[in-house]
Amino acid sequence: DAIVHWFRSDLRVRDNKALRLASERAREKGALLITMYIVSPQDFEAHFTSPARVDFILRTLQELKDDLAKLNIPLYVETIEKRKRIPGRIVDLLEAWGANHLFANMEFEVDELRRDESLVRACLEKGIAMDVLPDNCVVHPGRLATGTRNQYSVYTPWFRSWIAHIHENPELLELSEEPLKNPASMRERYVKIFDRTIPTAPRNKMLKDEEKRRFQSIWPAGEREAHERLKIFVQQRIGDYKEHRNFPGENATSSLSVHFATGTLSARTAVRTARDHNRTKRLDGGNVGIETWISEIAWRDFYRHVLAHWPYICMNKPFKSEYALVEWEYDQDKFKAWCEGRTGYPIVDAAMRQLNYCGWMHNRCRMVVASFLAKHLLIDWRMGERYFMEHLIDGDFASNNGGWGFSSSTGVDPQPYFRIFNPLLQSEKFDSEGEYIKRWIPELRGIEGKAVHDPYGRGKGAEAEKSGYPKHMVDHRESRDRCLARYKEVLGRR
Ligand code: FAD
Repeated sequence: DAIVHWFRSDLRVRDNKALRLASERAREKGALLITMYIVSPQDFEAHFTSPARVDFILRTLQELKDDLAKLNIPLYVETIEKRKRIPGRIVDLLEAWGANHLFANMEFEVDELRRDESLVRACLEKGIAMDVLPDNCVVHPGRLATGTRNQYSVYTPWFRSWIAHIHENPELLELSEEPLKNPASMRERYVKIFDRTIPTAPRNKMLKDEEKRRFQSIWPAGEREAHERLKIFVQQRIGDYKEHRNFPGENATSSLSVHFATGTLSARTAVRTARDHNRTKRLDGGNVGIETWISEIAWRDFYRHVLAHWPYICMNKPFKSEYALVEWEYDQDKFKAWCEGRTGYPIVDAAMRQLNYCGWMHNRCRMVVASFLAKHLLIDWRMGERYFMEHLIDGDFASNNGGWGFSSSTGVDPQPYFRIFNPLLQSEKFDSEGEYIKRWIPELRGIEGKAVHDPYGRGKGAEAEKSGYPKHMVDHRESRDRCLARYKEVLGRR
């Protein structure tokens, strides 16, 4: 007999609820624990998963396979070209392994829910049990409700209720233990699984050699790396997080997003670790850096709660339905200039170049560039949302969609539509010395003083011209007026 755990966005051994439960069940039944992962090229395609992210997942699987092997637990990885075939193929594998129980952790996106629904049916037909567990969030979606028993759509009251709920239910921060070791005889019985190698990336998601080396050095994969990053962040930087987190030139945030997105670190472990470092031993009060960091992780939970409650946001629809009527533009030249970091606004361009090079962008800059695309250029925010997914190593549907909805004012609890970031002021405020700008825009390294924020407007035009850096592609004031008028058209129609 065997019990199977199916890894999806939970690629870790530590604090993995479904994995631990599968392991306990196997021990009770005298069965063996097998784990699996399905590489689904069609899902990568449908979700615009970036090649850097695919590479990160595959590197993580290698580490995971090695860690599990130490516990005599095999990790079977297979590529299934047509995603429709996934449920059927899984059932075939379960039967071939003599498994009668499948475990997995819950995913909330619509495609994934549909996939799980057909798998539950396919399992039932063969008399196989399937359990899908709440593990992905600190507080499972559906647990928090407003006074009128509705889902919150505003972050602040939701957050108060999130904190109170965890304090009332401290077991939510209890960590699951690692899976139990399989008997050594497992290796002989399932030698074919132990010997299988991790597949390579699908053709259209392959990195070039230089890119592979680059992403591997910036983003080492695996669970150990995630814990190491968490430890260093909590020991060295969390105390100053509130004060420094908005400055993109500083290394002040945790850079753990890729690990949360891949599941190499659970949000529970992160929140618990931060709480334990707080002198109040609570999520709030005490150290403001810790309190603020926990509230940022809570945003991740918040956007998952929103996704679980309003799944239509998975279908290219804005959260605020009235904003579906905004007349967006689709100018490919302008969009390309934004993608390539050639808008003539240094903070925007530095950020886009950081994204293109690292697969990551600082949160402040994510808001600035998203606002610039949707408001200054009036380009459909969904084009930006997609470009982010195609390039981010931490691409995560709920957080990305939430961030784009916030910045374009079409989402849940958004920035009001009339708040339009001035990229020059954002630049002066959050990168006052132009350190970040100069790191990513070599053309501007010779520009002195405040002119770096606006080389043609504030600097000597000739110096800027010599650098080859472009002029503003649109004027801030005009764009602002145009944007306000365009959004107001829609509000007027209501
Ligand atoms: P830290 O500042 O150390 O924060 C810790 C963790 O909290 C993050 O790793 C992340 O999991 C969570 N978090 C922080 N801020 C947010 C937020 N605003 N929304 C949701 N979760 C948050 N985050 C992603 O993980 N994937 C995305 O695809 C993504 N796309 C975004 C798109 C836009 C337009 C915007 C404005 C934000 C987006 N974010 C996304 C949120 C945020 O920018 C990143 O999580 C953060 O920059 C990651 O860096 P860090 O790990 O150092 O964060």
